[in-house]
Amino acid sequence: MPDERLPKRLFYGELQQGQRSHGGQKKRFKDTLKASLKAFSINPDTWEKSALDRATWRSPIHNGAKMCEASRTTAAELMRQTRKARAINPPGDVPLVPCPFCVRTFRARIGLVSHLRTHRNSQPQQPPDD
Ligand SMILES: [Zn+2]
Repeated sequence: MPDERLPKRLFYGELQQGQRSHGGQKKRFKDTLKASLKAFSINPDTWEKSALDRATWRSPIHNGAKMCEASRTTAAELMRQTRKARAINPPGDVPLVPCPFCVRTFRARIGLVSHLRTHRNSQPQQPPDD
């Protein structure tokens, strides 16, 4: 495609002026394409040449998709196992926060704050004096 064609100018174009938004810029088609190419282990600088020949283009696409999906699945499974292990064996070195009204203890202060709403009309228990 010649350089002066509108689709090519839009694809490679950037705005001359404007503001940058908080939380990251809006992704252009070009950005998501580049990220996908990187995930598929295809060089983003030379993909256009190899895409011209459909027979040689299909192989990197199929292999890249297979490899990308395998690594995504492995990473997701690893994160799941980490999350499940943390739920079964909570970290033991965290000091417990006791409730002043009853016997419950909490690992985080926010849990106690939320629980204290159930004791709105209660008086704190006095610790046993012996
Ligand atoms: Zn309580």
